[in-house]
Order: sequence, then C-alpha cells, then structure tokens
Amino acid sequence: MQTLTVLGSTGSIGTQTLDVVARHPQRYRVFALTAQERVEELAQQCQRFQPRYAVIAQAHADALRQALQARGVGGTEVLGGPQALCEVAAAPEVDAVMAAIVGAAGLAPCVAAARSGKKLLLANKEALVLGGEWFMQAVRAGGATLLPIDSEHSALFQCLPESPLVWAQRVEKIILTASGGPFRQRDPASLASVTPEQACAHPNWVMGQKISVDSATMMNKALEVIEAHYLFGLAPEQIEVVIHPQSVIHSMVQMRDRSVLAQLGTPDMRVPIAYGLSWPERIESGAEALDFARMGALSFEAPTRERFPALFLAWEALAGPVGSTAVLNAANEVAVQAFLQRRLRFDRIHAVNAGTLQALSPSKPNGLEDLLALDAQARALAQAQLQRWKD
Ligand code: NAD
Ligand code: MG
Repeated sequence: MQTLTVLGSTGSIGTQTLDVVARHPQRYRVFALTAQERVEELAQQCQRFQPRYAVIAQAHADALRQALQARGVGGTEVLGGPQALCEVAAAPEVDAVMAAIVGAAGLAPCVAAARSGKKLLLANKEALVLGGEWFMQAVRAGGATLLPIDSEHSALFQCLPESPLVWAQRVEKIILTASGGPFRQRDPASLASVTPEQACAHPNWVMGQKISVDSATMMNKALEVIEAHYLFGLAPEQIEVVIHPQSVIHSMVQMRDRSVLAQLGTPDMRVPIAYGLSWPERIESGAEALDFARMGALSFEAPTRERFPALFLAWEALAGPVGSTAVLNAANEVAVQAFLQRRLRFDRIHAVNAGTLQALSPSKPNGLEDLLALDAQARALAQAQLQRWKD
C-alpha cells in the first residue's frame, strides 16, 4: 500500500491521477488533496477518497470546511495557504507525491517533497524549468526518486537504459515529438486574431488552459526541451524536436549505433500517470489499446522558426546564464495569463517572452529564495513588456 499526496487534484492531471488511483484501491491510499479554488470539486474528491488533509487557498478554506460538513465528511482536516502545500508534500506518512500544480507556484512543494526523499511524480514542468540544476540537486540530496509524468519524458524514461550512469555513453540524442497543436497548418500571418477558445481546442489532448495555450504556441515543447535537459543530463544539442501530428509516438531515443527506440500508445495521460505510480511495475491505466490495423499513416515534419518561434527560445535560454530558463518560464506565465484575459494578442506572446529573456541577464540563483526572487523580477519585466505590446 502506498500513501499519496496529489498536489493540484482538481486539474486535468490531478483528476486523471485519481481515476487511476480509484482503479487500484488495494495499492494506493490518499493522504492529501490540494486545489487552488474549486471548493465543490475538492469536497467531492474528499468524499470519495477520504484524505487526512485537504489544502486550498486561505480565502476558500472556510467554504471548504462547510462543504465537507454538508457532505458529512468528518475525517478530512482543511488547511489553507502555500505553506500547507509543503507540509502535505513532506509529511512522514507520505510515500509518493503527484506534482500536478500548474506553474511556478508548484516549486516550493516539489522541493519539500524532494528534500524529504519522496517518490516525486513530476507533471509540473514549470517547477523544473524554474528550479533547473538546483532542483535536481535537491532531489539527489534528499534521496528522492524523480519520475517524469509529462508523456514525452515518460516515453524517454521508458526507452532509456535502466542505469543513468550509462546514458551519456550510449545515447546519441533524444527526439521529442510534438503534435503541432491547433495551428500547425494555419497561416502564421493570421495568428493575430486567435481567441483563447481557439487556442485551447487541442486536436489530441484535453488539458488545463495554460498548457493548452503553450501547446498552441509550442512554448510547451520549449519547456519540455529544457525539462529533458535537466531530467536526463543531456546537452542541449542532443535534444531534437519533430512534429508528429497523430501523437502516437510519444518520444524516441537514438543510440550511438543509430538504433532508435520509441514509446507508443493512445494519447491518454493515464498511461504515464499509471507508469509513474506503479514504477517499476505496470498496472492497468484505463487507456484504450492502440489499434495498428486502423491507425493509418504516421507522419513527421520539422518545426520551422517562422511558424513556431517559441520552440527555439529553449536552446537560447539553455545557452544563457544559469537562471535564464527561470526567466523564460516566468515571462511565459505572465504572457499566457494576459492572453487568456484578452489583454495580449496571441502572436505577441512570443514577443513578450523573447523581450524579457533578452532584457534580463540573471546572476546565478542559489537556493529557493533566490529562485523565487528571480521569478518575481522576470514577471515584473514581462509586465513592462506587456505595456509595450498592448494594442
Ligand atoms: P490544470 O489547470 O487543469 O490544473 C492545475 C491544478 O493546480 C488545479 O488543481 C489548480 O487548483 C491547482 N493550482 C493552480 N494554481 C495554483 C496555485 N497558485 N497554488 C496551488 N494550486 C494551484 O492544469 P493541468 O493541465 O492539470 O496541468 C498541471 C501540470 O501538469 C502543468 O505543469 C502542466 O504543464 C503539466 N502537464 C499537463 C498535461 C495534461 O495533459 N494536462 C500533460 C503534461 C504535463
Ligand atoms: Mg508533454
């Protein structure tokens, strides 16, 4: 029996995690569930999974207590605020933490889980892009096990040799696949008029709003290139991206002898979630099997700078001073939020990101406080860029 904390349990990854957990009541017990503001959904999850703790933003804590009382849920204690997220991630009862908060807000609880040696299931890619090598050191120092949940990185992890000690010796490069998102074939000149609804309508995956917009700009793949660099310790030039619109191959590893290993499956996040939960074993995920006879052709194309300039910021940030990936992540969070609130044009998200990355040359962050200060500084600069790009 493993005891779990699910950070961001009301989101797309959080709810799919609970879907897998519910299939295996003998294997997993829920210790804590957390959400930012969806009181009713969190209360419903508490009724079903009976966690010891439920964490929500302080402003909604009383409402959650009332909702739990109304449902007759007596065994769940409500905690409020960001510090409580760290507490339920680090509690001694917990074996594994699903990190499914979106954005930089997830860094501190991820680090708390890492420092207390948990099995850390990382969906929250922004936390790693912000924390970078320092985050990986915290994982090592805490004796934690970091398992990627992002489908591409789960695919790579499944294809890589078992021992990380031989990765550098055997692996020539990794190839991340990208679906191309909803605008793969749209005239780049027409992207100015894209609405949040259009950007969030992904052809293959149903996801939270932020990652959906990132998929449409391909900043999601840029974040994933950076994520792969830190996770697998490969040089930026050993990481490649190919567009594969069917999302059947989730990523590939090319060995020194030019043999290529790929991981395939239907586009269903419950597969990498189940793999992270059960690793190194395998459990039922609820996903449909691939049907090769009905699948049709798989196709591939190279991403171009003209259509997807955001992608190339990944290598630019990795070539910059330590902390540059944190700057890029912060700018993008600000730009995406402004776009979702209809304060920034879709085609100017890139301008804000590139402009902020250029404007700020960070000094090496040392520790969580430094990283959060750098994140705040980059956000302030991105806000200034927003003014510049206002209609
Ligand atoms: P989502 O928006 O659906 O859910 C986010 C969750 O985080 C919610 O439970 C929300 O309450 C919580 N949250 C948001 N802001 C918070 C804050 N400031 N403090 C505490 N909690 C907060 O997002 P999602 O699509 O589930 O994505 C979660 C993470 O997983 C992201 O980092 C995303 O990039 C990554 N990811 C998602 C998918 C997917 O298919 N959805 C795939 C790969 C990776
Ligand atoms: Mg992904």
